[in-house]
Amino acid sequence: MARTTEMTFACPCGTTFTATVHHAVNVTLEPQLLYTLLAGRLNVATCPNCERQIATGLPFIYHDLKRGLFAYVHPNADLPEEDRDTLLAGLRRVYAEAVETSERISPPHDSHPSRARQRHEPADLPRAIAEPEAPPMQVIFGVERLITLVESLLEPEERLGRVALTATGPDPAARERLLDVARRLATQSGCLVDTELDGDTYSVWIYGSRKRVGQLVKLLNTNP
Ligand SMILES: [Zn+2]
Repeated sequence: MARTTEMTFACPCGTTFTATVHHAVNVTLEPQLLYTLLAGRLNVATCPNCERQIATGLPFIYHDLKRGLFAYVHPNADLPEEDRDTLLAGLRRVYAEAVETSERISPPHDSHPSRARQRHEPADLPRAIAEPEAPPMQVIFGVERLITLVESLLEPEERLGRVALTATGPDPAARERLLDVARRLATQSGCLVDTELDGDTYSVWIYGSRKRVGQLVKLLNTNP
């Protein structure tokens, strides 16, 4: 399964645009996605014309090897019990099949010492699922619950930090310039940007770990 796909959105303002949606999020491979999640922007598309935010409501797999978190996340926290049961039964079936397949590929280690030596090959994903040290898969309903869980596993310095640059007035060129500056700052400091429009106030949020955002703010204050 591809980790991402391009999805087309039709905004109520009349604009049609495409954005990337994630089916599988591996923050070990893409650490910035951790902050996309914490900022509430994972699988949320922003209309380039009116800045309206559109949530996709797509389920996704969340994997954080370092913090031992492996979860199937259904964004709807209020999914009716019946639908939950159907979903869980389906997941159990898929999981059981995956484990069975990987057991066929990899018989118990002690009987095949030559295979045991190879068991950490990164390409061998199906086998990784059945690894005894792999974290078990949790099922989480509601992105907010995932965010709360992830936050509880972070060091204070790793938590979400944000700073906003703002422009007032309807001038599109001024907004463009602000976004350009913010993007450059974000890239330099390993952070991300997100835009917001509130009346005539256009804000560009730069976000990332508190540590990185703190360094960025320090830099901005010394170079006004
Ligand atoms: Zn729009």
